[in-house]
Amino acid sequence: MKGRETVAYINIDKYLENLNYIQNQTKTSIIPVLKANAYGHGMLPLARQVFNEGCSMLAVAYLEEALEILKEGVHLPILIFNYFSPDDFEELLEFSHFLRPTITAYTFLEKVCDILGKDVDKFKFHINVDTGINRIGIKEEKLPQLIKLIKDKNIRIEGVYSHFANADEKDDFTRVQFEKYKSLLDYIISSGIDVEKKHISNSAAALFFPEYSLDYVRPGIATYGLQPSTTHKVDQLKPVLELKSIVASIHSLLPSDTIGYGRTYEVQKKMKTAIVPIGYADGYFRTLSNKGEVLINGKRCKILGRVSMDQIVVDVTDTNASIGDEVVIIGKQKYDEISAEEVAENASTISYEVTSRIAQRVRRIYI
Ligand code: PLP
Repeated sequence: MKGRETVAYINIDKYLENLNYIQNQTKTSIIPVLKANAYGHGMLPLARQVFNEGCSMLAVAYLEEALEILKEGVHLPILIFNYFSPDDFEELLEFSHFLRPTITAYTFLEKVCDILGKDVDKFKFHINVDTGINRIGIKEEKLPQLIKLIKDKNIRIEGVYSHFANADEKDDFTRVQFEKYKSLLDYIISSGIDVEKKHISNSAAALFFPEYSLDYVRPGIATYGLQPSTTHKVDQLKPVLELKSIVASIHSLLPSDTIGYGRTYEVQKKMKTAIVPIGYADGYFRTLSNKGEVLINGKRCKILGRVSMDQIVVDVTDTNASIGDEVVIIGKQKYDEISAEEVAENASTISYEVTSRIAQRVRRIYI
């Protein structure tokens, strides 16, 4: 079924090329970050690719995402970045071989120990140490108490990691965070805890500070071929996703006609418009009302009036557009391209949000 023909095309070869590129630049192993439906690209199909590529671990934000991947039969160690309820551990024993929960707080680990008793040794944990981003991550002053609990309860620590706040700006704070990470790591190791896996770099750090790559890097955005920085372009990254639709109908409008809710666009001279079946319920930005552009027959066509829930109206006056013609919302057509970064800039956001907002109801096709 073709349905309304609004489709996100995900190019697997490009995804794998980006993984390889990052791997070659950093000369270390990759933990691909597949959270938030792989930033909108589809978590399960890409998890399968990551598995086939031989990656030894992947990462997600939440427990639910990890379980979805494991239940799909992708049996890889999965690092879970964020908090989830310690109460869940009771039901997780069957997956303990693959789950890599992050210790997000002393009380979290204490509760896990209460719930699991001796079985706590079935899990391998990672500690996220805060080095200056001040989100999830154990603070330096909380480490002694945590280390005591880890040793008392024989908790297996597989990895220690941290997260950079500003590596995309290539600023000195990244070095400050790295130094802090090293000193916290030394402290943990000198307390008698074996740490097999050390990792800190996101995409920007992996590409701009390869010397910080350690045992693993954890790239997300760059694996999808999107730029990790707005100021330092990496030409080798290949965008993986294209978002396309079709012209569903064409109208001729006359001066003083208005378009869409709120009548925010008034026609000045005779014009031709095309209706495209994509709207804010698909994750397209309502802030692109009277602002965004799409490509039809290689020409840029402006959005007229408000972006509504299921459709947009675009100006095709100077094109020979007809019903059924391809509309590119993100991607290339003839000699032009609308990148996710361009959409992000117009919508005053970042490319991460552009792709990760693409709704479930938009069909994904893997090419
Ligand atoms: N590591 C952690 C802990 C993250 O939260 C994220 C994403 O936010 C990443 C790695 C990947 O970051 P990026 O997509 O900038 O490469």
